[in-house]
Amino acid sequence: MNDLIHSKLISVVLPAYNETGNIALIAGKLENVLKLLKYRYEIIFVNDGSKDSTQELIISLVSKNENIHYIELSRNFGHQNALKAGIDMASGDCVISMDCDMQHPPEIIPEFVKKWEEGYEVVYSIRQESKELTGFKRGTSKLFYSMINSMSDINLEPGTADFRLLDRQVVNIFSNLSENEPFIRGLIKWLGFKQFAIEYVPSNRHAGTSQYTLKKMMRFALQGITSFSTKPLYTAVYLGFIFSLLSLLYIPYVIHAIYTGQEVTGWASVIMTIVFFGGVQLIILGIIGIYIGKLFMQSKQRPTYIIRSTSLKTHS
Ligand code: UDP
Ligand code: MG
Repeated sequence: MNDLIHSKLISVVLPAYNETGNIALIAGKLENVLKLLKYRYEIIFVNDGSKDSTQELIISLVSKNENIHYIELSRNFGHQNALKAGIDMASGDCVISMDCDMQHPPEIIPEFVKKWEEGYEVVYSIRQESKELTGFKRGTSKLFYSMINSMSDINLEPGTADFRLLDRQVVNIFSNLSENEPFIRGLIKWLGFKQFAIEYVPSNRHAGTSQYTLKKMMRFALQGITSFSTKPLYTAVYLGFIFSLLSLLYIPYVIHAIYTGQEVTGWASVIMTIVFFGGVQLIILGIIGIYIGKLFMQSKQRPTYIIRSTSLKTHS
């Protein structure tokens, strides 16, 4: 027991948004796994402004178990911000993050810790293709990673999830990043350090439904791409060049038409061109708009989350 008191601390961070059906189950499973390791541990639930009784459930767990803690955010800040809140507040020598819907199997944690003991500072997980996931989720996930990889400067393996272990050194650096709308899996890859990937087979979500609707996924993908590169802006410029050059080719034809008196035939081609270029311009304006939006949000320097209450000791 004495060994345990002086041993290192492992923090496990779980963001939770309307997860009443899962909290107690995951807490129990986690304890069973963590108890077997030779370290002290803390389990931190981050209630991301849930609208159901998630908070009450967490509080009741916290009151019964000194290893369990909570952070309650003042409203829903989204998965990534909630995760950041938990990682920032955790005091472990390593911090493990995972979802609380049972899709990230707690049984993998000992493997994470083993790699950490071997000296890896980041142990992350890659979701294996699984029949449990719907074809839609698999398809969109694949598209997401191929888009991120082709349009930004980082290279993420398909299926990289927010289920990973970070060493204290990495956590400190990560917590000091004040990026608005953090895209955590990209940031971690970008940080470098000695990283190790472990593959796992995801389980089904235990209770409730996924919070990631198609709209949220689209936003997440655009956020991911635009926070890691300015490549889309260059694409806009290249497209502009290509179309300007192509339009030059049109000039001889126009002159020819004027001289031979054949101008003004068919408005269809004119309309087509206007519509097409209208579309291209809107897309490009949109891309520029996203970057300006990011600058705008970042320049306000607002916190990425606000804590309403917590059972952890606050640093401030
Ligand atoms: N989550 C959160 N805030 C949100 C949406 C989700 O904290 O606004 C949590 C959710 O409770 C879960 C994790 O983030 O623990 C992943 O969410 P979800 O299972 O909905 O995503 P998916 O597994 O479908 O990608
Ligand atoms: Mg899930």
